[in-house]
Amino acid sequence: MKYDTIIIGAGMSGLAAGIRLAHYEKKVLICERHFREGGLNSFYHRHGVMLETGLHAMTNFAPKGANKNLPLMKLLRQLRIPYDALHLRPQRGSSIVFPGKRLDFNNGFTEITDSVNSQFPAQTDRFLELDRFLCEYEDATSLEKGFISGRETVNRFVSDPVLADMLLCPLMYYGSAVENDIDLGQLALLYRSIYHEGFCRPGGNGIREILDLLKERFQESGGELRMSCHVEKICSKEGKVTGIITDKGEFIEAENILSSAGAPETMALCDVCVTPGYRTEPGSLAFVEAIAVMDGGFNTASNRTVIFFNQEERFDYRSPDGLMDTRSGVVCLPENFYFEKNDPLPARMIRLTALAGYQYWKNLSPEQYQVCKKKCTEEAMIQAGVVLRCDAILDNARFTDTITPLTLEKFTNRTRGAIYGSAVKLKDGRTHLRNLYICGTDQGFLGITGAMLSGISIANQYMLV
Ligand SMILES: Cc1cc2nc3c(=O)[nH]c(=O)nc-3n(C[C@H](O)[C@H](O)[C@H](O)COP(=O)(O)OP(=O)(O)OC[C@H]3O[C@@H](n4cnc5c(N)ncnc54)[C@H](O)[C@@H]3O)c2cc1C
Repeated sequence: MKYDTIIIGAGMSGLAAGIRLAHYEKKVLICERHFREGGLNSFYHRHGVMLETGLHAMTNFAPKGANKNLPLMKLLRQLRIPYDALHLRPQRGSSIVFPGKRLDFNNGFTEITDSVNSQFPAQTDRFLELDRFLCEYEDATSLEKGFISGRETVNRFVSDPVLADMLLCPLMYYGSAVENDIDLGQLALLYRSIYHEGFCRPGGNGIREILDLLKERFQESGGELRMSCHVEKICSKEGKVTGIITDKGEFIEAENILSSAGAPETMALCDVCVTPGYRTEPGSLAFVEAIAVMDGGFNTASNRTVIFFNQEERFDYRSPDGLMDTRSGVVCLPENFYFEKNDPLPARMIRLTALAGYQYWKNLSPEQYQVCKKKCTEEAMIQAGVVLRCDAILDNARFTDTITPLTLEKFTNRTRGAIYGSAVKLKDGRTHLRNLYICGTDQGFLGITGAMLSGISIANQYMLV
């Protein structure tokens, strides 16, 4: 049994690539080590409530009938998914809150422009110049070049460091694998996907809605999905992959291998040494995601969907010297989307993401881990209370749960729980082996939409020619 392509991982990028290949009648197998698909963007249940591991908001919103060149429209077309199948519900509005300053943004570009104009009037023209530059920035340019500092680029246009930090804060939190900076190519993509297109949420069952749809589309197109199937080795001969060996010891032959497991993680599976140009290190940035599911009557009195906050004078996006750093972070209220009448509403909850020090978590004994997890959850919810200006979140919580870097490492195999992967991206998706390719996070495309587009574009470029 020989496959045209074996895909490692049934996360967003792997599933999207699989659908694309199956549509073209390629014999394709996805091997996923977990019993459930989704990877970084999956779901689980606690006390009868569905909790999403990743989803705060899906970026790249486009209204029905929007320009077909917008990323979301391209994605749906390539996967042959009708617009209405996702039941996308737009955000109510999000904010960036720094000491004494607040910028609001919503889907479309008007609100952020007005906000910059009112909070930083002397910077409006500079901001609009930055906007023009980033909107015209060609993705192809970033493919040809290595790392270009996004921070330096923003500073070239915007002379107020606080405004620069405020604009960068959501972009870094939603996708930078680099401490206190972001690759210019990624900056341009994220900038457009957050400030121009904006946020939405699948109105039915959240991330489960997308995952069920992708899985169904893949399997009905003839793709094979093996769950709880850990790829242990990528075999090669004379610079070309021949197949994989699974944890059950089975060798499966393939013409191509496409891995969404991460670049360093994939290289570690290879049976031959990696040549220097393709050697990448695991990322250093990890996060804690604390969730409080609230009693029905509790009201935060906030209509904000996502709040990116920073309490210091400057924004410091780096691995903290400790378990968690709540001086900055992201608060999300999944109830604040424009749901429609018959939509099943997500459980009322408050989510907070903060930077985490992987090594500090790793050094804990199992007993210390439980104690620290509880302490961090409490600290996170106190901070969420400060951001939302509401008291007693914990007193009104039905229960809490917290995802640490170790949880993510265990369930997704991401080294150090680094959700944004390696700081060095393999932008053309190629590796030291001729027919082994990388897609998803370590190709440089992040988030739900970005990861799916990455899977599609690598499949199109190398496996459908
Ligand atoms: C806490 C958190 C919050 C987030 N918030 C958002 C958000 O609000 N909006 C948004 O758009 N994105 C968000 N993301 C990011 C988004 O989830 C990811 O960028 C995207 O899902 C990455 O998809 P991927 O396919 O590249 O990788 P992954 O999801 O990591 O998929 C890789 C898959 O490969 C599998 N795998 C790994 N090794 C092997 C092996 N050896 N054999 C078999 N299978 C293997 C893994 O189990 C995994 O399922 C968030 C992520 C997290 C963790």
